[in-house]
Amino acid sequence: MARKWYDDDELDILNNRNHERVLDAVEVFLEATPTFCRCRDCRLDLAAITLNGLPGRYYVSEEHMKFYGHSDERLNDDRVARAVHEASAVVTRRPHHD
Ligand SMILES: [Zn+2]
Repeated sequence: MARKWYDDDELDILNNRNHERVLDAVEVFLEATPTFCRCRDCRLDLAAITLNGLPGRYYVSEEHMKFYGHSDERLNDDRVARAVHEASAVVTRRPHHD
């Protein structure tokens, strides 16, 4: 078997800024939306569908984040929140839970 190009612990510093944003936005959404199903399938589907609707924003360390700049932070927050709401409609319409 071919040797992997990375060591497992090296992947620990490979992060996706939008992944972190989505986890935070899902928490805010769930707190504000008690009617949304709390089961594992629905919570994880909500995060997965939201992430699929947003571009990845990978970086290797906090130091590298400076290359992205922060001028669009506000816009991104709004966009992520909107993506969570759109994803929630999809999950509610076609839930995977029993
Ligand atoms: Zn559910």
